[in-house]
Amino acid sequence: MINPDCIFCRIASKDIQANLVAETELSLAFWDISPRQPIHILVIPKNHHANIAELTMNSPEQLVDLMQLGTQIALEKSTGSFRLSFNTGEEAGQTVFHAHGHITSRTPKDQIA
Ligand code: 5GP
Ligand code: ZN
Repeated sequence: MINPDCIFCRIASKDIQANLVAETELSLAFWDISPRQPIHILVIPKNHHANIAELTMNSPEQLVDLMQLGTQIALEKSTGSFRLSFNTGEEAGQTVFHAHGHITSRTPKDQIA
């Protein structure tokens, strides 16, 4: 369920601090520590799954919850133009092996006059 050696498990259990955005019983969203776009928020399942493929195959209920939370945040924070993306595997650029979606957008709602 929770892996003590995993940084995102430690964020999910509030053992390590993160700039939280929102949470449900199953999922947590927080700002990326080194944002690459004006909006760069991560959404994770609170339980440990190594990547989105494992989450999809093993825990569809948590997958839906994560997608709903990620989409809701993206719609709230952006003007409606966003990415919700999942690097899966080292060669695809995954560096933290706890499933996470990147919510990114160049068009934050609060920058539009
Ligand atoms: P990946 O490359 O695995 O798809 O994405 C990992 C993301 O996690 C990176 O964008 C990185 O900046 C972010 N990250 C890594 N460690 C931490 C951390 O301790 N706190 C937060 N908020 N983000 C982190
Ligand atoms: Zn984990």
